[in-house]
Amino acid sequence: MFELHVLGTSSARFAHGRSVSGSVLNTPGGLAIIDCGEGMQKRMIDHNRALKSSGLENRTRISRTRAIFLTHGHLDHTWGLLPMLQTLDLDGRRNPMVVMGPSTREAIDWATRHPGETPPEESGISSTDLAILFSQWQAIGTKDDDSSYPIDWVLIPIDGDMPFKSPIQPLEGITVTIVPTHHGVPSCGYHFETNRKRGRFDRERATTLGLSDEQVGKLAQGEDLLVDGQTLTAASFRGEPHPGCSIMISGDTAHGPIGFDAANLPSPPQLLLHEATFLADQQERATQYYHSTASDAARHATSCKASTLALTHYSSRIERLSPLVSEAREHFSGGVAATQDGDWFAIDANGDVSHHVRVENGWNKKNL
Ligand SMILES: [Zn+2]
Repeated sequence: MFELHVLGTSSARFAHGRSVSGSVLNTPGGLAIIDCGEGMQKRMIDHNRALKSSGLENRTRISRTRAIFLTHGHLDHTWGLLPMLQTLDLDGRRNPMVVMGPSTREAIDWATRHPGETPPEESGISSTDLAILFSQWQAIGTKDDDSSYPIDWVLIPIDGDMPFKSPIQPLEGITVTIVPTHHGVPSCGYHFETNRKRGRFDRERATTLGLSDEQVGKLAQGEDLLVDGQTLTAASFRGEPHPGCSIMISGDTAHGPIGFDAANLPSPPQLLLHEATFLADQQERATQYYHSTASDAARHATSCKASTLALTHYSSRIERLSPLVSEAREHFSGGVAATQDGDWFAIDANGDVSHHVRVENGWNKKNL
C-alpha cells in the first residue's frame, strides 16, 4: 500500500555520511516526495539504481513524481527543490506537478504584494516562509510559461493547531491531512491515508435467497429491497469496511501539537516517521529550537496511537543511533526503528510494517 524511502536522516547539515531531509512515498495514487533538501535528485537516482540492481521492483523515479510536500521552508528541507524541477523541465516533462507547503495568510498577502522580494524584519514575516520562497523561486525562472510542464504552487495557510483535510488532494485514492506543528516558522506534518474500502458483498447469501440477478445487482449497488413483504437492507449484505492504511510524517516540531493526538486525526498511523534531533539530555535545547528528542517522538507516537515509530533527522552530535531507540522504547510500546539513509519501510494491505535496512549490497528486511 505504502512504501517510504528515507533518503536523508540528518538535521541541518550533512554529518556522519547522512544527508539532509528528503523522503519518497510510493502510494497507490502515485509517487510523492516529502521534503527536498540539497542533492535530493541525485539521491533519488542513486537509490533507484540500487533498487534496480538488487532486483527489487520498488522504484523512486523522479519523473513519476506527482506531488512534492514540504513541511516548512528551512533550506535543509527545500534547497534541492528548484534544481529538481529544472531537471524535469530539461527532460521535457509534460505532466503537471503540485508543490505544496504551509504558510500564513499574512505571508501569502505580503508575497502577493511584493513578488520575488525578501520581507523586511519589521514585517514579522520570516524570509524562509514558503510564501516568500515560492515567490522568489518563481522569479528565478520556474514560471509556468517558461516551463515544459505546469507547476501548481499551493500554499496552505496554517491557522491554529487542529489538523485539517488538505484543500488539494494530488494523489488519487489517498486522503492527505495537514497536521500543524510547532517549529518557529509555519510548519506541518502530513498524514496520508488510503481511502477506506466498502466491505465485501455477500453474493452467495443473496443467491441462496433465490433473488434474481437484477435484485442481486441492486443490493450490490447499495439499494434496499422489499421481497415478499420483508425489507432486505443492502448494508446487511456487506462485511466490515476495510480500514485504510495510513502513514504520518512529522516534519520538524517541538513536542506538543494537538495534531499528534489520535482523537484529532482521521486514523492512527501504522507508521509514524518522526524527527528525533536530540536525546533527552538535550531536552532544553530541543524545546528552545522547536525540535524533538527521541522521548518526545515516542510520546507523540503513543498519543497518536501509531503502530510503529521510525526516527530520523538527527543532530550532528548524534553518531550512534542505538541510544535513540532505547530512549524511545521507554515511552512507546510499539516497534521502533532508527532510520538510516537509504532505508525504506513498507506497509502492506493488512497494515503490517516492515523495515528494509540498507546494507552494502542491498537491504535486509526486518519486521517492526
Ligand atoms: Zn530540519
